[in-house]
Amino acid sequence: MPPSIDVFAKVRGHEREQLLRAAREADVLPYFHVLSTPAMPVVEMEGAQRIMLGSNNYLGLTGDERVMHGAEDALHRYGTGLTGSRLLNGTIPLHLELEREIAEWIDTEDALVFTTGHQANIGTLGTILAPGDTVIADSGDHASIFDGCVLSRAKLRPFRHNRLDKLEKMLERAHTDGGGVLVVVDGVFSMEGDMAPLREICDLCERHGARLMVDEAHGAGVLGHRGAGAAELLGVEDRVDLRMGTFSKSLASCGGFIAGPAEVIDYLRIYSRPFLFTASAVPAALGAALAALRVVRSPEGEPLLRLVLDNAWRLRDGLAELGFAVVAPQRLPADRGHGYTAEPDDANRATAPGVRHDATGTPMIVTPIVPVLVGDDWKAALLWKALYDGGVFVNTALHPAVPPGGALLRTSVMATHDEATIDRALDVFARVKREFESEHGPLPGPDAF
Ligand code: PMP
Repeated sequence: MPPSIDVFAKVRGHEREQLLRAAREADVLPYFHVLSTPAMPVVEMEGAQRIMLGSNNYLGLTGDERVMHGAEDALHRYGTGLTGSRLLNGTIPLHLELEREIAEWIDTEDALVFTTGHQANIGTLGTILAPGDTVIADSGDHASIFDGCVLSRAKLRPFRHNRLDKLEKMLERAHTDGGGVLVVVDGVFSMEGDMAPLREICDLCERHGARLMVDEAHGAGVLGHRGAGAAELLGVEDRVDLRMGTFSKSLASCGGFIAGPAEVIDYLRIYSRPFLFTASAVPAALGAALAALRVVRSPEGEPLLRLVLDNAWRLRDGLAELGFAVVAPQRLPADRGHGYTAEPDDANRATAPGVRHDATGTPMIVTPIVPVLVGDDWKAALLWKALYDGGVFVNTALHPAVPPGGALLRTSVMATHDEATIDRALDVFARVKREFESEHGPLPGPDAF
C-alpha cells in the first residue's frame, strides 16, 4: 500500500505561510537581505549604505588586519578545506593551539573545538546526557541547546526565563526522575540581551547536586576583564562545570567550543557524534578564530571590551530616552536583598569593562544586545522596514524565536561603531517612531520590557 499522506503536504498551508506571503507582498519581510560588504559598522545592503545594528561581530574583528592575516596564513598553509572529520584526517595544529589557548583563556582543564557553535551544543548535550537523565533548561536558551536536549532523549524540564523559583521547582522534581541532572543556561541570552543570574543558579545546582553548563556564545569576548564571559563577570568560573562558546560572534569567524574537565572533554572527543561525523572547519576559519582570540587575550583586548560595552550603553540609553521599550541595565551581582555581603571579587567586578554605577553606587551592566520590544509581529516587520529604508539594519525576532506577542527588534553594537554613527542611528529611530506612531498608534513604552 502506498502511503496516503505526502510528506511534502506540510510545506503547503503551514502556519507561517500566510504571514510570510503577506510580508513579501507588502515588501516588509525582514529576512534574507543581501549584504555586499564585510559586516562592519556601516555596510552596503541592496544598493544602499546602512548602519549595521544587526551583527554579532561585537569586537569588530572580522575586518581586523591581524585576523584577516590569520585566515590567509591558514588558507595558504593548509588549503581551502580539510575534507574530513577531526577523528580521521581533519585535525591540524591550529585545532590543538586553539584548544590549548581556549582552555587557558576560559581557565578550564581542556577544550574541544567543533565546526560550529550549534554542533558544540548538540555534540555536548546529546552525548553527556542519556535517556534516564534530566536536563533543566531556561526557556530563553538558544535553539541549539534544545536540539541537543532532544537528541539526548533525556527528560527535558524547561523553566520560565530567568525565574529562579521555577528552576528550583524543576530541580526538586528532578530528584524523583532517577538519573543525573544537568542545568543549562545561556550566560547572555541571545534575544533578550540579559544575563543569567549565575551565582544564584550555582547555589541552586550545588544544593541539589546538579551539574551546570553555560552557553557563553554572547558572553565570551564581551564580559569580564579577560572577556571570558558572564561566568567570569559574576565570579563563578570555578562553579560552572561546562562552558560553551562560539567563534561566530566576538571571535570573528565560524566554529564553536566546549571547555571543562579533561575527563569530560576526552569522553566527548571519542563519543560525540556531531564532533566525529562531520568535516572539521576550513583552515581559514580556525586561523581567524585563533588570531581573534589572541587579540582578545592581548593588552588590546580589554580596551575593545570597554568600547563595545560603552557603545551598548550609548545605544540603550538613547533608545530609552526616545521612549522605546528596551532591556534595563542589570545589577551586579544579581539582587540578593538586604542580607547581601560583599565578596572578595566584588571590587574586581566593579572595574570590569562596561560596569557603571547607579545613583546608589550599585554596579550595573549592559550587553551589546539591546532588544527593542514591539510585541506585535506585523508591527515589528513594518518598523523594521521603516528603519531599513532609513538606513539602519536591525534583526527582527518573531515567534518562535521569542514568546508569542513578544516580537523584538534586536539591535547590537560593535566596538568599532563610533559615537557619531550610533547617534545617526538614534536619529533614524526617533523619526521612524514619530511617523510610525502617528499612523499606527503608540509603541510599547519604556516600562513594557
Ligand atoms: N548559542 C547561542 C546562544 C547562540 O546565539 C548561537 C548562534 N546564534 C549558537 C549557540 C550557535 O552558534 P553558531 O552560530 O556558531 O553555530
